[in-house]
Amino acid sequence: MIVLGIETSCDETGVGVVRLHYDGAVQLLADEVASSVQEHARFGGVVPEIASRAHLEAMAPTVRRALATAGVTRPDAVAVTAGPGLAGALLVGLAAAKAYAAAWDVPLHGVNHLGAHVAVDTLEHGPLPPCLALLVSGGHSSLLRVADLAEPVVPLGATVDDAAGEAFDKVARLLGLGFPGGPVLDRLAREGDPTAVRFPRGMTGPRDSRHDFSFSGLKTAVARHVEGLQRAGHDVPVADVAASFQEAVADVLTMKAVRAARDTGIDTLVLGGGVAANSRLRALAEQRCGAAGLTLRVPRPGLCTDNGAMVAALGAHLVAAGAAPSALEIGADPGLPVTTTHL
Ligand code: ATP
Ligand code: MG
Ligand code: FE
Repeated sequence: MIVLGIETSCDETGVGVVRLHYDGAVQLLADEVASSVQEHARFGGVVPEIASRAHLEAMAPTVRRALATAGVTRPDAVAVTAGPGLAGALLVGLAAAKAYAAAWDVPLHGVNHLGAHVAVDTLEHGPLPPCLALLVSGGHSSLLRVADLAEPVVPLGATVDDAAGEAFDKVARLLGLGFPGGPVLDRLAREGDPTAVRFPRGMTGPRDSRHDFSFSGLKTAVARHVEGLQRAGHDVPVADVAASFQEAVADVLTMKAVRAARDTGIDTLVLGGGVAANSRLRALAEQRCGAAGLTLRVPRPGLCTDNGAMVAALGAHLVAAGAAPSALEIGADPGLPVTTTHL
């Protein structure tokens, strides 16, 4: 059984193809991504109209490439991101998925982008046991309890302000690193001293919520620090500031994830979302999960950021679980809650 997945929630046109085996294993056959990120760079952020237009232009060629790579002519099901994301961008993917499903006469599965960020791990590491997911991306930062990929997740905590990826992008911008900032900041931080500046760890006080996050105070602290140096006429040690900021984010995320695992008695942690590609977060998670006796699962960096394979993976798990296909009338839901796995 072959499932094709289409992702267009932001600026990546992703098309993935997976094979669902009889034993429930899901195998990656193709993962093609066309990104419009460079077209947004001069605006300092994703411009929705440009993203939608780019999806429209990239869709058919990307589908053709994915099918050719997988050696498939007609998949047995089509999965598509129904939300959350940019309305116009989602609509392009959804319209394409409906058209392909109708033309091939196969079922359509509208899935949650956030659930797909978690499901993608199964492509590399096999079936997921009941686990805790740390989902850290451009628009979300959440700790989720995942019993089964085909069932609704249970949110344990989330950011009360900025998402982790948003903090990376904003700090990168104020350090003059351009857009998108996360990957550039990650690279630069390798040359810096993570102990140079002790930035605040938000929401870690004894009276703070145990499983929620806050990153806007950290972003402000970095801005104040940089302004202070500039006002005093000093050069900004950009790599040190980047490394110190990144250390604060990785410290809080891993500390809270391990704490949530302890609180819930869950012994497997899976990382997902674009920020899970961050080298320091991956290293610290490895170290702290090891010390706490937890099993850590992290997809390779290319599968952490948006792609179609993750959508195909979640679609395949839904098919395996016997989920009913979506109606061809489903709409895009820009604010789809994380608890709605499937439309
Ligand atoms: P969401 O999944 O919440 O809808 P999104 O789909 O836009 O948001 P993703 O593609 O999952 O987000 O992740 C993009 C984010 O990940 C950006 O904020 C980007 O800066 C960040 N990111 C990507 N690579 C890294 C990295 N190596 N280090 C830190 N952040 C990174
Ligand atoms: Mg992107
Ligand atoms: Fe995403």
